[in-house]
Amino acid sequence: MSSHVKPPVDPATLTHTQLLEGDFWRRIPAYEAIDEATFLDHKWQAKNTITRVDKLLAAVQGLVPQRFIADAEVGFKRAPMNVRVSPYLLSLIDWTDPYNDPLRIQFIPVGSRILPDHPKLGLDSLGEQADSPVPGLTHRYRDKALFLALDTCPVYCRFCTRSYAIGGDTEGVEKLSLKANRDRWAAAFEYIESRPELEDIVVSGGDAYQLRDDMIREIGTRLLNMKNIRRIRFATKGLAVMPQKVLTDDDWYRAIVDMAALGRSLHKQVVVHTHFNHPNELTAITARATNRLFEGGVTVRNQTVLLRGVNDTLDTMKLLVKRMGHINVQPYYIYAHDLVQGVEDLRTTLQTALDLEKNLRGSTAGFNTPNLIVDAPGGGGKRVASSYEVYDRTTGVSIYTAPSVKPGQLFYYFDPVDLLPEEGRRRWADPAEHQVMIDEARAKIGLR
Ligand SMILES: *Cc1c(COP(=O)(O)O)cnc(C)c1O
Ligand code: SF4
Repeated sequence: MSSHVKPPVDPATLTHTQLLEGDFWRRIPAYEAIDEATFLDHKWQAKNTITRVDKLLAAVQGLVPQRFIADAEVGFKRAPMNVRVSPYLLSLIDWTDPYNDPLRIQFIPVGSRILPDHPKLGLDSLGEQADSPVPGLTHRYRDKALFLALDTCPVYCRFCTRSYAIGGDTEGVEKLSLKANRDRWAAAFEYIESRPELEDIVVSGGDAYQLRDDMIREIGTRLLNMKNIRRIRFATKGLAVMPQKVLTDDDWYRAIVDMAALGRSLHKQVVVHTHFNHPNELTAITARATNRLFEGGVTVRNQTVLLRGVNDTLDTMKLLVKRMGHINVQPYYIYAHDLVQGVEDLRTTLQTALDLEKNLRGSTAGFNTPNLIVDAPGGGGKRVASSYEVYDRTTGVSIYTAPSVKPGQLFYYFDPVDLLPEEGRRRWADPAEHQVMIDEARAKIGLR
């Protein structure tokens, strides 16, 4: 045999095909007696979703190390987001090692890991409110817009970019209210219809999981009937935190499938965009849900956020990408973490994104290989991570331009200070240096 023939791999190494099966939730004391039918019932999942720290800790009593409990209490008090954790999500967390568990890190804050915010950080770091002609509608790019239909989600992510609006007020943050309000929707629809250049609407929030089936139909039908609209995406984190809904909320499932079918009959796309961040979030239950959507002719794409300690290694990201591909979820984007209040511990460097970008490509089909994106703070929109004009790895300052979105403007991204080399950390500690570092980066691209 010639040496360029590849030997077959051991099937046991194809870990992306090995999805968690069985009644794994029974590991959690509170769910020991829960049978499969109950666990798959979306109403049971919703009813037993945990929003208070005492309830959370009661559910995992006896599993979790004592010092973690006090730490989580502090974390809940200081977090800019409310907390909402489904039983499904709770059972996927390894409570014997909560500090390192990639799902715990995303949804349950602990006081001891909080880092100071980056000096350049503001709430609404993407400037969504500045690009908003009507409350809850962001029209930044020429041909597409983001419609925030409502402001609740089936889970609250610590790292949410929209912590300015999503979820209820917390001790530190009073929020812009975006209820599922028919008058506000009507104003958004009128604007969308009045703009012939708009072809593509992201229905988000909040989260399409929280929209009742009649609301999905109302929004979908109204948009599909507009001559200018060619593409709609319903965005939901739900598949990652409560796949049960796709399996047992038949009204909601039918509404999505019917909108996709209506779209096809009009030669328009209606797809679902979801948000998986770690391979542990994809189980045999997830596969049943994505199979059901696939059978209904619904395309599912995914957007991941790059999170320190969660998915910032090549092995984890590769496994995530391959596992999503395996169950017909198409990896679309991986975002460098936006500058969001209170979660500096979750951000990582642009260099980490660049390394992932280089190393992921080639590991699976090109159309299942996500683009690494920096959503430029200040409203520049999504830029491919490697397309920076300048990146100073010592100060962590990078600059992007967005010629087709905001021509002539510069957009800055900043690595988290604690991951910079000693010199960078020292300079950020001195407020007088902040503008100097930015000016240095500008000088490198010929600006004074
Ligand atoms: C992400 C986003 C879109 C959609 O952008 P794509 O690159 O097409 O996924 C549209 N509008 C806003 C404001 C966005 O943030
Ligand atoms: S599901 Fe999306 S919108 Fe909702 S809290 Fe998480 S990141 Fe924010």
